[in-house]
Amino acid sequence: MAREVLLEHAKPHYEEEELLELDHAILFSTDAHEGQKRKSGEPYIIHPLAVADTLIDWGLDMDTVIAGVLHDTVEDTEATLEEIESLFGRDVAFLVDGVTKVSQARAGMRNLDSYLPQTKDNLSKLLIAVSQDVRVIIIKLADRLHNLSTLQHMPKDKQQKIARESLEVFAPMADRLGMGRVRMQIEELAFSYLDPGEFQRLKNLMRKRLGKSTRKLGKVRQEVEAELKHNGIEFEVNGRVKSVYSLYKKLKKVGGNIDDIYDLMALRVIVKNKEQCYRVLGILHAMYQPMISRIKDYIAVPKPNGYQSLHTTVITPNEHIVEFQIRTYGMHEYAERGLAASFHYHEQKDSKDYLRKKNAAKLSSQHQWISQLQEIASRLGSGDEISKDELDVNLFGDRIFVYSPVGDIYNLPEGALPLDFAYMVHSDIGKHAYSFRVNGNIHPFDKPLQNGDVVEVITRKLSLPKKSWLELVRTSHARTKLRAQLKKMQVVETISAATNIIRSKALRKQK
Ligand code: MN
Repeated sequence: MAREVLLEHAKPHYEEEELLELDHAILFSTDAHEGQKRKSGEPYIIHPLAVADTLIDWGLDMDTVIAGVLHDTVEDTEATLEEIESLFGRDVAFLVDGVTKVSQARAGMRNLDSYLPQTKDNLSKLLIAVSQDVRVIIIKLADRLHNLSTLQHMPKDKQQKIARESLEVFAPMADRLGMGRVRMQIEELAFSYLDPGEFQRLKNLMRKRLGKSTRKLGKVRQEVEAELKHNGIEFEVNGRVKSVYSLYKKLKKVGGNIDDIYDLMALRVIVKNKEQCYRVLGILHAMYQPMISRIKDYIAVPKPNGYQSLHTTVITPNEHIVEFQIRTYGMHEYAERGLAASFHYHEQKDSKDYLRKKNAAKLSSQHQWISQLQEIASRLGSGDEISKDELDVNLFGDRIFVYSPVGDIYNLPEGALPLDFAYMVHSDIGKHAYSFRVNGNIHPFDKPLQNGDVVEVITRKLSLPKKSWLELVRTSHARTKLRAQLKKMQVVETISAATNIIRSKALRKQK
């Protein structure tokens, strides 16, 4: 990656002024990294330029691209943050600072199980950096992707460490941001280093299978295309092949038999609007027998990370099982690029305003995750203890959606308990929670909620939080609120105890 190539790539997407600034950053960074080499022996500058190139690919705004060019200068060279701020402005300096902090924290992230104070500090830096601006994580993902793609030059033990960390921390991060394509790229690369034998075995297994089914699938595809045309629908069809790592995960789930996996290859139908998605679903179901349990409407109920599509698996008259994914162009774009799409150079202004909105309630439900991150970050910053479990649940666990009785949607970590929901709705609702009704039935405090549950909190004015509730919450949010309330109540108790004493003394005096 050379300066000219990067500039050429950037040219169609940014203002002239921005391009000049980019060029300035390239020169600054080249100068700063002068004499440094990558493990491959190449000059170091190719790395930050490759990262910036990826960020342009992902369509990020110029501040982020420039921060990509500069992302290793503060950590690895003589350059200072003050210098960067004076040359490239506060936003760029803020992003570079965030990335630097994440790098410093990386050592800690690698080893979450040995939960030492230092790990906690590192983690806190990471989280604080992340929560203030998601673009920091996006730069980190581009950085990680390039490091993974050049991993062959690293010693074996380092390869393993980086690969594991990528699978455990960075891929879930990408997923949480809805960046499906990046998640997959990270997983494939990392898995191929973590378990090369298994990777190769599954790859071969898949190739054999696909060879057999591609012809059959081609026939189905022709039939479907003809039928959609006949119905006057404008569409695009393409095949999507399952990634090796997701095959690996799925095989683990179904007990290792590849015959139980129906979506090795799926057909993806992309249409203009939502209504057409449902029409296509109807047409497919009229043509073939659907497997009822495998019809998924992620359009009406998106996945927690914002992913939308209709999924269905059908059985053809020749008894071939074929999965279809139906979505609009917009949904496709989001599925591939996720949150990065909202930092697109065209939408830059909007997205910044959007993220600066302090009010978590204004964030759409899939991005409640970001506000939860901020909460954990501020708790870590104030020296609060946070357990590994709590972090796992809140940051890296699966998510569920539950509903209020009026249909408001809430995004919670899997395993969340009713009190978590109550506190998420409002801290006063949590405070006065008396009992719960889930899908119309009384529900105990200690039974986890399920995806799709309708949860009603029954409150009583006189019902107050108890210390034992600390065992009945899983989310950081609920715990923070509950702790504060318990603390306050203790104060109140002490005061009322004191008033009682004074009162009884006064009464005695009267006598
Ligand atoms: Mn780097």
